[in-house]
Amino acid sequence: MFKGKSAIVTGSTSGIGRTIALMLAARNANVMFNGFGDEDDISALVKEASQAGTGDIMYSSADMTKPDEIADMSEAARSAFGNVDILVNNAGIQFVSPIEDFPDDKLQAIIAINLVSNFHTIKHVIRGMKKNGWGRIINIASAHSLVASPFKSAYVAAKHGVAGLTKTIALEAAEFGITVNAISPGYVLTELVEKQIPDTARARGITEEEVVQDILLAAMPTKKFVGADQIAETVAFLISDAAASINGANLSIDGGWTAH
Ligand code: NAD
Repeated sequence: MFKGKSAIVTGSTSGIGRTIALMLAARNANVMFNGFGDEDDISALVKEASQAGTGDIMYSSADMTKPDEIADMSEAARSAFGNVDILVNNAGIQFVSPIEDFPDDKLQAIIAINLVSNFHTIKHVIRGMKKNGWGRIINIASAHSLVASPFKSAYVAAKHGVAGLTKTIALEAAEFGITVNAISPGYVLTELVEKQIPDTARARGITEEEVVQDILLAAMPTKKFVGADQIAETVAFLISDAAASINGANLSIDGGWTAH
Protein backbone atom coordinates (compact mmCIF):
# COMPACT_ATOMS: atom_id res chain seq x y z
CA MET A 1 0.00 0.00 0.00
CA PHE A 2 2.85 2.43 0.85
CA LYS A 3 5.44 0.79 -1.40
CA GLY A 4 7.98 3.35 -2.58
CA LYS A 5 7.22 5.74 0.29
CA SER A 6 9.73 6.37 3.05
CA ALA A 7 8.97 7.31 6.64
CA ILE A 8 10.58 8.43 9.86
CA VAL A 9 8.70 7.63 13.06
CA THR A 10 10.31 9.18 16.14
CA GLY A 11 10.01 7.30 19.42
CA SER A 12 9.11 4.05 17.68
CA THR A 13 10.80 1.52 19.98
CA SER A 14 7.74 1.41 22.22
CA GLY A 15 4.02 2.08 22.54
CA ILE A 16 2.12 4.11 19.95
CA GLY A 17 5.16 4.90 17.76
CA ARG A 18 6.12 1.23 17.59
CA THR A 19 2.62 0.29 16.43
CA ILE A 20 2.61 3.06 13.80
CA ALA A 21 6.07 2.14 12.49
CA LEU A 22 5.20 -1.58 12.28
CA MET A 23 1.98 -0.71 10.43
CA LEU A 24 4.00 1.30 7.88
CA ALA A 25 6.55 -1.52 7.52
CA ALA A 26 3.78 -4.09 7.02
CA ARG A 27 2.39 -1.88 4.23
CA ASN A 28 5.76 -1.93 2.47
CA ALA A 29 7.07 1.54 3.30
CA ASN A 30 10.76 2.11 4.04
CA VAL A 31 10.89 3.01 7.72
CA MET A 32 13.43 4.68 9.97
CA PHE A 33 12.77 3.56 13.54
CA ASN A 34 14.01 5.74 16.42
CA GLY A 35 13.97 5.70 20.19
CA PHE A 36 15.69 4.24 23.20
CA GLY A 37 15.67 0.74 24.63
CA ASP A 38 17.49 -2.52 25.09
CA GLU A 39 19.81 -3.31 22.17
CA ASP A 40 18.47 -6.87 21.73
CA ASP A 41 14.85 -5.67 21.82
CA ILE A 42 15.61 -3.07 19.15
CA SER A 43 17.38 -5.64 16.93
CA ALA A 44 14.35 -7.93 17.28
CA LEU A 45 12.02 -5.05 16.40
CA VAL A 46 14.05 -4.16 13.28
CA LYS A 47 13.98 -7.83 12.26
CA GLU A 48 10.22 -8.05 12.83
CA ALA A 49 9.67 -4.89 10.74
CA SER A 50 11.96 -6.14 7.95
CA GLN A 51 10.01 -9.39 7.73
CA ALA A 52 6.64 -7.64 7.87
CA GLY A 53 6.92 -6.01 4.44
CA THR A 54 9.13 -5.33 1.44
CA GLY A 55 10.55 -1.93 2.46
CA ASP A 56 13.98 -1.17 3.89
CA ILE A 57 14.11 -0.79 7.66
CA MET A 58 16.63 1.37 9.51
CA TYR A 59 17.10 2.43 13.11
CA SER A 60 18.54 5.62 14.58
CA SER A 61 19.28 6.16 18.26
CA ALA A 62 19.05 9.96 17.78
CA ASP A 63 18.16 11.72 21.01
CA MET A 64 15.24 14.07 20.35
CA THR A 65 16.71 16.61 22.78
CA LYS A 66 19.71 17.02 20.43
CA PRO A 67 19.16 19.00 17.21
CA ASP A 68 22.42 17.77 15.65
CA GLU A 69 21.40 14.12 16.18
CA ILE A 70 17.98 14.87 14.65
CA ALA A 71 19.77 16.37 11.62
CA ASP A 72 21.97 13.26 11.30
CA MET A 73 18.96 10.89 11.54
CA SER A 74 17.07 12.86 8.87
CA GLU A 75 20.10 12.88 6.57
CA ALA A 76 20.66 9.14 7.09
CA ALA A 77 17.05 8.43 6.09
CA ARG A 78 17.25 10.75 3.11
CA SER A 79 20.48 9.29 1.80
CA ALA A 80 19.37 5.65 2.31
CA PHE A 81 15.78 5.99 1.09
CA GLY A 82 16.20 8.85 -1.44
CA ASN A 83 13.64 11.05 0.32
CA VAL A 84 11.49 11.23 3.45
CA ASP A 85 7.84 11.31 2.36
CA ILE A 86 6.17 10.63 5.69
CA LEU A 87 7.18 12.05 9.05
CA VAL A 88 5.48 10.93 12.24
CA ASN A 89 6.57 13.00 15.24
CA ASN A 90 5.70 10.72 18.11
CA ALA A 91 8.55 10.68 20.68
CA GLY A 92 7.32 11.95 24.00
CA ILE A 93 7.75 11.75 27.74
CA GLN A 94 5.61 12.74 30.71
CA PHE A 95 6.26 14.01 34.23
CA VAL A 96 3.58 14.65 36.83
CA SER A 97 4.12 17.11 39.69
CA PRO A 98 2.70 20.29 41.21
CA ILE A 99 4.44 23.21 39.49
CA GLU A 100 6.18 24.40 42.67
CA ASP A 101 8.06 21.08 42.85
CA PHE A 102 8.46 20.55 39.07
CA PRO A 103 12.17 19.84 38.39
CA ASP A 104 13.72 22.24 35.83
CA ASP A 105 15.44 19.39 34.00
CA LYS A 106 12.10 17.58 33.51
CA LEU A 107 10.53 20.77 32.18
CA GLN A 108 13.41 21.24 29.71
CA ALA A 109 13.28 17.59 28.59
CA ILE A 110 9.51 17.59 28.02
CA ILE A 111 9.60 20.81 25.99
CA ALA A 112 12.62 19.57 23.99
CA ILE A 113 11.30 16.06 23.19
CA ASN A 114 7.55 16.66 22.95
CA LEU A 115 7.64 20.02 21.13
CA VAL A 116 11.00 21.33 19.91
CA SER A 117 12.06 18.04 18.27
CA ASN A 118 9.00 18.29 16.00
CA PHE A 119 10.25 21.66 14.79
CA HIS A 120 13.68 20.22 13.95
CA THR A 121 12.45 17.04 12.22
CA ILE A 122 10.04 19.05 10.07
CA LYS A 123 12.75 21.59 9.26
CA HIS A 124 15.00 18.79 7.96
CA VAL A 125 12.51 16.82 5.85
CA ILE A 126 10.23 19.47 4.39
CA ARG A 127 12.61 20.69 1.69
CA GLY A 128 12.62 17.21 0.10
CA MET A 129 8.83 16.94 0.40
CA LYS A 130 8.40 20.34 -1.29
CA LYS A 131 10.76 19.31 -4.08
CA ASN A 132 8.75 16.10 -4.64
CA GLY A 133 5.40 17.86 -4.40
CA TRP A 134 4.13 15.32 -1.85
CA GLY A 135 4.44 14.77 1.86
CA ARG A 136 2.62 13.75 5.01
CA ILE A 137 3.56 15.13 8.42
CA ILE A 138 1.64 13.71 11.38
CA ASN A 139 2.31 14.97 14.86
CA ILE A 140 1.13 12.77 17.72
CA ALA A 141 -0.17 15.42 20.11
CA SER A 142 -2.64 14.49 22.88
CA ALA A 143 -6.04 15.35 24.32
CA HIS A 144 -3.74 17.59 26.36
CA SER A 145 -3.18 19.70 23.21
CA LEU A 146 -6.82 20.77 23.65
CA VAL A 147 -7.58 20.60 27.37
CA ALA A 148 -5.53 20.54 30.58
CA SER A 149 -5.13 18.34 33.63
CA PRO A 150 -3.55 19.52 36.88
CA PHE A 151 0.10 18.59 37.64
CA LYS A 152 1.00 18.19 33.94
CA SER A 153 2.05 21.80 33.26
CA ALA A 154 5.08 21.05 31.05
CA TYR A 155 3.31 18.34 29.04
CA VAL A 156 0.14 20.38 28.47
CA ALA A 157 2.20 23.42 27.44
CA ALA A 158 4.28 21.30 25.03
CA LYS A 159 1.24 19.61 23.48
CA HIS A 160 -0.63 22.90 23.02
CA GLY A 161 2.56 24.03 21.27
CA VAL A 162 2.40 21.00 18.96
CA ALA A 163 -1.16 21.98 17.99
CA GLY A 164 0.04 25.48 17.03
CA LEU A 165 3.10 24.22 15.18
CA THR A 166 0.91 21.79 13.21
CA LYS A 167 -1.41 24.56 12.02
CA THR A 168 1.48 26.86 11.09
CA ILE A 169 3.34 24.33 8.93
CA ALA A 170 0.05 23.18 7.40
CA LEU A 171 -0.37 26.72 6.06
CA GLU A 172 3.25 26.99 4.92
CA ALA A 173 3.24 23.67 3.04
CA ALA A 174 -0.32 23.48 1.70
CA GLU A 175 0.53 24.44 -1.87
CA PHE A 176 3.24 21.77 -2.16
CA GLY A 177 1.06 18.65 -1.88
CA ILE A 178 2.02 18.29 1.76
CA THR A 179 -0.47 17.86 4.57
CA VAL A 180 0.35 18.49 8.22
CA ASN A 181 -2.00 17.19 10.87
CA ALA A 182 -2.05 16.31 14.55
CA ILE A 183 -3.63 13.27 16.15
CA SER A 184 -4.73 13.77 19.73
CA PRO A 185 -5.28 10.52 21.59
CA GLY A 186 -6.87 10.06 24.96
CA TYR A 187 -5.20 7.55 27.28
CA VAL A 188 -3.48 4.58 25.66
CA LEU A 189 -2.10 1.98 28.05
CA THR A 190 1.61 2.29 27.20
CA GLU A 191 4.73 2.65 29.33
CA LEU A 192 4.24 6.43 29.34
CA VAL A 193 0.88 6.06 31.08
CA GLU A 194 1.88 3.17 33.34
CA LYS A 195 4.87 5.19 34.65
CA GLN A 196 2.74 8.22 35.60
CA ILE A 197 0.24 6.27 37.71
CA PRO A 198 2.35 6.21 40.94
CA ASP A 199 3.26 9.94 40.63
CA THR A 200 -0.34 10.92 39.97
CA ALA A 201 -1.43 8.89 43.01
CA ARG A 202 1.16 10.76 45.13
CA ALA A 203 0.27 14.21 43.72
CA ARG A 204 -3.45 13.67 44.31
CA GLY A 205 -3.20 11.63 47.54
CA ILE A 206 -5.16 8.65 46.15
CA THR A 207 -4.39 5.00 45.36
CA GLU A 208 -3.03 3.78 42.03
CA GLU A 209 -6.28 1.88 41.35
CA GLU A 210 -8.19 5.14 41.95
CA VAL A 211 -5.89 6.87 39.43
CA VAL A 212 -6.85 4.32 36.75
CA GLN A 213 -10.59 4.37 37.49
CA ASP A 214 -11.21 7.94 38.69
CA ILE A 215 -8.65 9.90 36.65
CA LEU A 216 -7.63 8.01 33.50
CA LEU A 217 -10.76 6.08 32.54
CA ALA A 218 -13.05 8.74 34.05
CA ALA A 219 -11.65 11.25 31.53
CA MET A 220 -12.99 9.16 28.67
CA PRO A 221 -16.77 8.85 28.20
CA THR A 222 -16.24 5.39 26.63
CA LYS A 223 -14.51 4.28 29.88
CA LYS A 224 -12.03 2.44 27.70
CA PHE A 225 -8.38 3.00 26.89
CA VAL A 226 -7.69 3.98 23.27
CA GLY A 227 -5.90 1.28 21.23
CA ALA A 228 -2.52 2.07 19.66
CA ASP A 229 -3.77 0.22 16.56
CA GLN A 230 -6.64 2.73 16.28
CA ILE A 231 -4.08 5.53 16.12
CA ALA A 232 -1.97 3.65 13.55
CA GLU A 233 -5.03 3.17 11.31
CA THR A 234 -5.75 6.90 11.51
CA VAL A 235 -2.15 7.57 10.45
CA ALA A 236 -2.66 5.21 7.48
CA PHE A 237 -5.80 7.12 6.51
CA LEU A 238 -4.05 10.50 6.76
CA ILE A 239 -1.35 9.21 4.42
CA SER A 240 -3.88 7.98 1.87
CA ASP A 241 -5.04 10.02 -1.13
CA ALA A 242 -8.53 10.13 0.38
CA ALA A 243 -7.14 12.41 3.11
CA ALA A 244 -5.35 14.82 0.76
CA SER A 245 -7.64 17.70 1.80
CA ILE A 246 -7.30 17.10 5.54
CA ASN A 247 -4.71 19.71 6.44
CA GLY A 248 -4.03 21.58 9.67
CA ALA A 249 -6.50 19.40 11.56
CA ASN A 250 -6.16 18.13 15.10
CA LEU A 251 -7.99 14.80 15.11
CA SER A 252 -9.20 13.62 18.51
CA ILE A 253 -9.15 9.88 19.22
CA ASP A 254 -10.18 10.17 22.83
CA GLY A 255 -13.49 8.37 23.29
CA GLY A 256 -15.21 11.75 23.59
CA TRP A 257 -12.99 13.23 26.35
CA THR A 258 -12.65 16.65 24.72
CA ALA A 259 -16.34 16.80 23.79
CA HIS A 260 -17.03 17.71 27.44
P1 NAD B 1 6.10 5.27 25.29
O1 NAD B 1 6.80 5.67 26.56
O2 NAD B 1 5.56 3.89 25.18
O3 NAD B 1 7.05 5.53 24.03
C1 NAD B 1 7.80 6.71 23.91
C2 NAD B 1 8.85 6.54 22.84
O4 NAD B 1 9.62 7.75 22.77
C3 NAD B 1 9.84 5.40 23.11
O5 NAD B 1 10.21 4.79 21.90
C4 NAD B 1 11.04 6.15 23.70
O6 NAD B 1 12.27 5.45 23.57
C5 NAD B 1 11.00 7.40 22.87
N1 NAD B 1 11.76 8.50 23.46
C6 NAD B 1 11.68 9.01 24.71
N2 NAD B 1 12.59 9.98 24.87
C7 NAD B 1 13.25 10.08 23.69
C8 NAD B 1 14.32 10.90 23.22
N3 NAD B 1 14.91 11.83 24.00
N4 NAD B 1 14.75 10.74 21.96
C9 NAD B 1 14.20 9.79 21.15
N5 NAD B 1 13.19 8.99 21.54
C10 NAD B 1 12.74 9.14 22.79
O7 NAD B 1 4.97 6.37 25.08
P2 NAD B 1 3.61 6.39 24.24
O8 NAD B 1 2.51 6.37 25.21
O9 NAD B 1 3.65 5.43 23.13
O10 NAD B 1 3.67 7.89 23.68
C11 NAD B 1 3.95 8.21 22.34
C12 NAD B 1 3.42 9.60 22.04
O11 NAD B 1 2.01 9.60 22.21
C13 NAD B 1 3.97 10.70 22.96
O12 NAD B 1 4.20 11.87 22.22
C14 NAD B 1 2.84 10.90 23.94
O13 NAD B 1 2.84 12.19 24.49
C15 NAD B 1 1.63 10.68 23.03
N6 NAD B 1 0.42 10.34 23.75
C16 NAD B 1 0.36 9.24 24.54
C17 NAD B 1 -0.83 8.97 25.21
C18 NAD B 1 -0.97 7.76 26.09
O14 NAD B 1 -1.99 7.71 26.79
N7 NAD B 1 -0.06 6.82 26.08
C19 NAD B 1 -1.92 9.81 25.08
C20 NAD B 1 -1.82 10.93 24.25
C21 NAD B 1 -0.64 11.19 23.60
